[in-house]
Amino acid sequence: MSNKPQTIAQFFKRFPSEEACLNHLFDVRFGQGFECPRCERASKWFRIKAERAYSCQWCGHHLHPTVGTPFEKTRTPLQSWFYAIFLFTTTRNGVAAKELQRQLGVTYKTAWRMADLIRKHMGDVDGDVLIGGEGKEVEIDETLIGGKRTGVGAGNYRDNKTVLLGMV
Ligand SMILES: [Zn+2]
Repeated sequence: MSNKPQTIAQFFKRFPSEEACLNHLFDVRFGQGFECPRCERASKWFRIKAERAYSCQWCGHHLHPTVGTPFEKTRTPLQSWFYAIFLFTTTRNGVAAKELQRQLGVTYKTAWRMADLIRKHMGDVDGDVLIGGEGKEVEIDETLIGGKRTGVGAGNYRDNKTVLLGMV
């Protein structure tokens, strides 16, 4: 069952801070117990405060949950991205850049880029709620917003789309 937020209040309870968003991204992509790519041991991962990274308990290798995702090169806070995706996934007819600009307090240019990127990742979808692919139907926000984690283990990095849309 999905436990994704349905209301704005639920959204902000679940993602109250940048830190909460980063932790969520870490959980979705890796999770505690994830096997370290360098020392190949299942590790506890410790948050590195100075950067958006987590460190291996054994060898100190860093994992960066945003690297390889659409959030990697942006200065826009993760919370703004998550909120934008939340809006897209809870608004039947899509979200205009102008609306993102207003709600997030970002420039129109930034809002347009965000909307464009989110739409591209939702672009493979016919319809607005479900992704049909390889015989599967998955809610687009199941992983990112819903927080369902699957397939944690060695070599189980998932691609951008998966991280953003939860299409596994
Ligand atoms: Zn390690």
